[in-house]
Amino acid sequence: MAADFAVIGAGTCGCAVARRLGELRPGDTVALVEATRVGYGTSGRNAGFILDHHSHGGMRHFEAARKNDRLLAAGTAWLRDLVRDHQIQCQWSDWGRIYVAAEAAAEPELKGVCDGFDALGVAWRGLDRDDLEAVTGSRFYRRGVRAGGSALVQPAAMMRGLAATLPANVTLYEESPVLEVGTTGGFRLACPDGVVEARQVVLCNHVYAEEMGILRRRIVPLASFASLTEPLSDAETARLGREGEFGLLPANANGSTVRLTRDRRILMRNTLYYARAKRFPPKLMDDVADTHRRSIARRWPDLGDVGLAGTWGGILGFTRNEGSLFGAVRAGLWAVMSCDAAPMTKGAIAGKLLAEHICGEESELLRVMLSLPRAALLPPDPILRLAVRRRIGRIAAAGPGER
Ligand SMILES: Cc1cc2nc3c(=O)[nH]c(=O)nc-3n(C[C@H](O)[C@H](O)[C@H](O)COP(=O)(O)OP(=O)(O)OC[C@H]3O[C@@H](n4cnc5c(N)ncnc54)[C@H](O)[C@@H]3O)c2cc1C
Repeated sequence: MAADFAVIGAGTCGCAVARRLGELRPGDTVALVEATRVGYGTSGRNAGFILDHHSHGGMRHFEAARKNDRLLAAGTAWLRDLVRDHQIQCQWSDWGRIYVAAEAAAEPELKGVCDGFDALGVAWRGLDRDDLEAVTGSRFYRRGVRAGGSALVQPAAMMRGLAATLPANVTLYEESPVLEVGTTGGFRLACPDGVVEARQVVLCNHVYAEEMGILRRRIVPLASFASLTEPLSDAETARLGREGEFGLLPANANGSTVRLTRDRRILMRNTLYYARAKRFPPKLMDDVADTHRRSIARRWPDLGDVGLAGTWGGILGFTRNEGSLFGAVRAGLWAVMSCDAAPMTKGAIAGKLLAEHICGEESELLRVMLSLPRAALLPPDPILRLAVRRRIGRIAAAGPGER
């Protein structure tokens, strides 16, 4: 088939690019080509935090963090509007988030979160062990910091809903991995069951763009893993605090992201692993599931054995300098990749802005996006792999009790 634009990858970036191109160019056609199914990729299988502010302490690159912060607020607002306007059923909740520290060693990192918030002008409230027990039912955490503005969602439902409400001139092709991008006389995307010919192509396939030889050595690919329990009973839910849901982010990088979802499941995310692969060894997945069971038991020792409904992994991207991967690769070929803090929100707004950039629109926010530094070049493997593994080892050693 032929289209004016082809967008490769239907995660948060790709759905945003396709939506905005469709809106701005109603007379053009847009093919959104996805290797698997919408919601099956990392954008649908994450912890569901829609973050409106740069979160983590340190802020070594404060100027970039400040600019990113503006983008995150705009991304959150846009997603909130889309979910509301299209009535997407994804358990959207403006609950906010709490950063937590379980041990004294993590308190400096929690202070880093507060300092970062102060520098960015974000309101926050300190919580002690009793406050945290009231919210979570657990005395595991000694201190926390609560901030509003962000949201919690069921990410797969949000992604399915976003894809189902694309403009009429956008056609979604699922289970259509692009195997090759030919560039003679326009672009020719070869998929197993057909070919897409397009005048312009936007790459939104995250780390997999590297396999096409594009955006190489700009992001550190880190796998992380999550499990969801089966839904809890009334009695079990009563042990998990009085708010009916919560979202906790660890101050320490070795810690766990933890949620009680609206459909009464515990989500546990932890463990970092340097990975470029799309699949993880079964032994690793078994070990991760055991780690998650232990993490749940340490927080709620009286809960008993709650069955896990599933455990999965996905890849997050980090740059060295909070830089961006956004814009033209060469004539007619564009790319956007979401990385660092709050990638779901950042990916949505970056995708929207890239479509506007392609269409020649101008805005203050687009200028902010374009002014971000380009993601810095990284050393090749095996140097990068070894350096990252050593760093992960140091992170794990620094916060063993946070997991
Ligand atoms: C366990 C876990 C928890 C996380 N929790 C959060 C969170 O709470 N909040 C947050 O903001 N972020 C979170 N993240 C990170 C976030 O989910 C990702 O960074 C984000 O989804 C990346 O979006 P994307 O659109 O760039 O890429 P992806 O979502 O990876 O989308 C890329 C798409 O491209 C497709 N694709 C790849 N190659 C091809 C090809 N050749 N042809 C066609 N299609 C192709 C893939 O199938 C995929 O659907 C988490 C990540 C993990 C792993």
